[in-house]
Amino acid sequence: MNKFVYADNAATTNVGDSVYYAMLPYLKDFYGNPSSIYSIGREARKSIELARQKVATGLNAEPAEIYFTGCGTESDNWALKSVAHDLKAKGKNHIITTNFEHHAILHTCEKLAKEGFEVTYLPVDNDGYITSEQVLNAITDKTAIVSIMYANNEIGTIQPISEIGAICKDKKVIFHTDAVQAIGSVAIDVKAQNIDMLSISGHKIHAPKGIGALYVRKGVRLTNFIDGGAQERNKRGGTENLASIVALGVAMEEATNGIEERVQKVAKMRDRLIDSILKTIPKSRLNGGISPRLAGNLNISFEAVEGEALLLRLDMMGVCASSGSACTSGALDPSHVLMAIGLPHEIAHGSLRLSLNEYNTDEDVDYILEVLPGVIDILRAMSPIWEG
Ligand code: PLP
Repeated sequence: MNKFVYADNAATTNVGDSVYYAMLPYLKDFYGNPSSIYSIGREARKSIELARQKVATGLNAEPAEIYFTGCGTESDNWALKSVAHDLKAKGKNHIITTNFEHHAILHTCEKLAKEGFEVTYLPVDNDGYITSEQVLNAITDKTAIVSIMYANNEIGTIQPISEIGAICKDKKVIFHTDAVQAIGSVAIDVKAQNIDMLSISGHKIHAPKGIGALYVRKGVRLTNFIDGGAQERNKRGGTENLASIVALGVAMEEATNGIEERVQKVAKMRDRLIDSILKTIPKSRLNGGISPRLAGNLNISFEAVEGEALLLRLDMMGVCASSGSACTSGALDPSHVLMAIGLPHEIAHGSLRLSLNEYNTDEDVDYILEVLPGVIDILRAMSPIWEG
């Protein structure tokens, strides 16, 4: 059989065995509507509340502060739109974020800007970090919410969330963080870190696609996201995604336990990849600072290489990875994240993101190191701009 290496865990993850087996009864046996009063309905309700408890425990939050959503994108939308619309009436129409957030935040901010909100996009430095001073200096008496991602999805850089939380608390501004990539890689304590709202996505932590959660600190007003039934305390109507909610509970429990060991194992593989690639492949560079950085993330640019061609060649060798360019509307756009850290277009186009997790092995690393230099050589030999 051909070798297969999945190194795109920042895009999505496999459903873990324990998660899978925990979900199954809720598809086949305990399929009752959680709002029904007979026993399989009550069983379903109990399981949802147990999952809520598990998600809350993983963040040091209260179960009543957790709302289940359809995905991380929905959680981001809900947090920003709810606070913005609620506080606009009080004359607060200013939002602070960064220029390298996920599009779930950036496009939501663009939408709110069209509604009259003023948005400050803090620029990250060339290593992919912002400082808490930048946040402090940007806050005005009109600021409704600060939304800063915990860790970047493309380059893995981790932001000073506790410092920003302390500043927002002091300034009485609501602080939201998109922690979709950080869950399972960093220990999060919403109370100690003064986080008011936090977004989670299930499919990044071995739960299925189509389930997420939003943490909302008690006292922060949350507007209805979907009008309908009384689900999610009247705020998000619609019969609950029972099996996936159960899955998210188990996945959160596993992701937030044993972080240190997992991070150590994964970071070792990542560092071996980075060291070896930079040593053996000329004109390659690491994008984003090395510390603090997600244990599983590496993002490397290769001069005179085109990202999509690189991904296709790697796919032919059985390696799944991502690149910093995305083919949208027929044009090959370089990633806004790589542009934000100051990479020239042509370098940003030739970038490769490998994202590892605890399912990866040393053999996976060996295999990537075996095939990657050859793939780069082939692409450079075909490149009109490669000068050797
Ligand atoms: N935020 C970040 C940082 C992400 O990496 C992603 C997904 O890649 C999302 C939000 C969106 O999550 P979902 O795919 O669950 O909508």
